[in-house]
Amino acid sequence: MTAAVIDGKKIAGHVREKVAAAVSRLKSAHDVTPGLAVVLVGEDPASQVYVRNKHKATEAAGMVSIMHQLPADTPEVDVVARVRDLNADDRVDGILVQLPLPSHIDEHRVINEIAPEKDVDGLTEVNAGRLMLGKKGLVPCTPQGSIILLKEAMPELSGKTAVVVGRSILVGKPLALLLLAENCTVTVAHSRTQDLAGVCRGADIVCAAVGMPELIKGNWVSDGTVVIDVGINRIDAPERGAGKTRLVGDVAYDEALAHASAITPVPGGVGPMTIACLLRNTVLAAARRRDIADPKGL
Ligand code: NAD
Repeated sequence: MTAAVIDGKKIAGHVREKVAAAVSRLKSAHDVTPGLAVVLVGEDPASQVYVRNKHKATEAAGMVSIMHQLPADTPEVDVVARVRDLNADDRVDGILVQLPLPSHIDEHRVINEIAPEKDVDGLTEVNAGRLMLGKKGLVPCTPQGSIILLKEAMPELSGKTAVVVGRSILVGKPLALLLLAENCTVTVAHSRTQDLAGVCRGADIVCAAVGMPELIKGNWVSDGTVVIDVGINRIDAPERGAGKTRLVGDVAYDEALAHASAITPVPGGVGPMTIACLLRNTVLAAARRRDIADPKGL
């Protein structure tokens, strides 16, 4: 068996097209242009790249992108004040505080200041609680993107056994809850799990969100399994020349190709879906805040 490769770039492109169409309908029918505000504290180079990409993607979808760049030594109270200003700003439908924040700032405190209806990262206690309760809310982007990719390969998830490797608040836990909401039988594995190989072998779906290069070996993947690899790890690639690096996932991709029925590559799998789902959440937030029905097709 050779796995079908789930093309995250292409599918993210479709989501972004649907978002752009929804934005244009919101403008013409309701005179609403959704706005996304991103708060970046400090000069972390990776965060700057992410924020720039989000800015470009937001504008490309026809939305307003508002950047707030604060110095690395900004006191926590000032970051909180900035979030409160954005909560009160009617042009802003979505607020994203780029993580990680500098170590003197309590991330949890800052995130929880975001008004739940503008929390497009889905990380406030209110939205986490809604997900837990199975109520409508804003869902974290990477897990949402993972589910969209999974459904491309396996449209009917009900009754399937799924293993999520990783239990972070950002990815593993919300992904497990989304799979449960799809009526999967879900196992959450983590750093203390015994016999991770055996746990993975028993699953119809393996989702990896660990941050360890190629932790999951090909022979941990049973024939016909769908593999969603969330991990992004940069490793040395001397075969490409001295000092060169490359990105790999948490799954030994080449090995898993021989067993899985479908698999997401790294890069080009879950990664592009994260921004697409951020844009999707911003449109949903803009509509819901005004009691407009969720845009069709999203
Ligand atoms: P995290 O460090 O917060 O969590 C890692 C989880 O892995 C923990 O729950 C831990 O228990 C588990 N773990 C650690 N060692 C393990 C082991 N040996 N066996 C099994 N489980 C183990 O990381 P995160 O924020 O959830 O991110 C996970 C990965 O996903 C990272 O590579 C990150 O870069 C990537 N990521 C990608 C996107 C994207 O857009 N594609 C978004 C967020 C995170």
